[in-house]
Amino acid sequence: MVTGIKYAKTPPQKYIDQAPRQTEWLAEAQPSVKLRRILTSGTRCPDCWDNVTQSCNNPNCLTCYGTGWSGGYAAQESVKVGISQPNMVDQKAWTAIGFIQVEMGIVGWCAPSVNIKPRDMIVDGGGKRYVVAEQVNNVGLLGTAVRQYFELEEREIDDITYSVPIT
Ligand SMILES: [Zn+2]
Repeated sequence: MVTGIKYAKTPPQKYIDQAPRQTEWLAEAQPSVKLRRILTSGTRCPDCWDNVTQSCNNPNCLTCYGTGWSGGYAAQESVKVGISQPNMVDQKAWTAIGFIQVEMGIVGWCAPSVNIKPRDMIVDGGGKRYVVAEQVNNVGLLGTAVRQYFELEEREIDDITYSVPIT
């Protein structure tokens, strides 16, 4: 997981000033994906929300898709997200204690203006459905937000996310 950009020394101010614009250009060159932002407020699901336990009692509920909020997701948006599949090189690493296997997930990134949040749902051009993992890293360069990085969990075809309408 990439969590930051390291420089041997402080980069010149002009690079810092250009960084957000550069990342917007790079992000613009990434494929379009469909984004459904998970609801975190609104009306509790009338079909599965349990007021006693304060939780959704049916993860496969077709009214809220297991989110506990009626409708589950905000309206579909089209955004640019780079998605890199894990590869063999990424999965192994030499360390002080020897050769270890590194768990590399599917990593997504986008411009900070997209403002991806944990548990948002992304559908790629091939129709694969992903859920954003719990941690979204907002990578900054000396206080200026330049990118968002996040791990993507690919869902199986029988997952409830495949019941969420995508056009
Ligand atoms: Zn429900």
